[in-house]
Amino acid sequence: MDRADVEPSVGCTKISPGCKNCYAETMAKRLRGIGVRGYENGFRLQLMPERLAEPLERRKPTVYFVNSMSGLFHEKVPFEYIAQVFEMMRRPMSGLAYPSRTGSMAFRGSMCCEALMGRFASYR
Ligand code: SF4
Repeated sequence: MDRADVEPSVGCTKISPGCKNCYAETMAKRLRGIGVRGYENGFRLQLMPERLAEPLERRKPTVYFVNSMSGLFHEKVPFEYIAQVFEMMRRPMSGLAYPSRTGSMAFRGSMCCEALMGRFASYR
């Protein structure tokens, strides 16, 4: 099965000592240096909603690393946007009878998960 990345947001804010050697920050600086779209502001958080359609356009079964370059669960990312990212991972590819897209993602640590669960609980 193919593998690919999809980055519906880029950038983050350091929140703990574990962020000291952040891979995403290092990569964002490099990508900004070579003019890659989305990294004009370096590591500053930015939503990229146009990228939500990228996996839907792919015709081959693919395992995606979702948001490897950002903190999707950053406090400034609206809950509705996080829900759209999960919907992107959930939807099967059109025209195929089996789920053909798998997503994995990184979390910003347990504090982030607790905050997200709190937002889920209040979202009705
Ligand atoms: S939470 Fe993750 S992506 Fe954000 S600064 Fe820390 S290590 Fe980097």
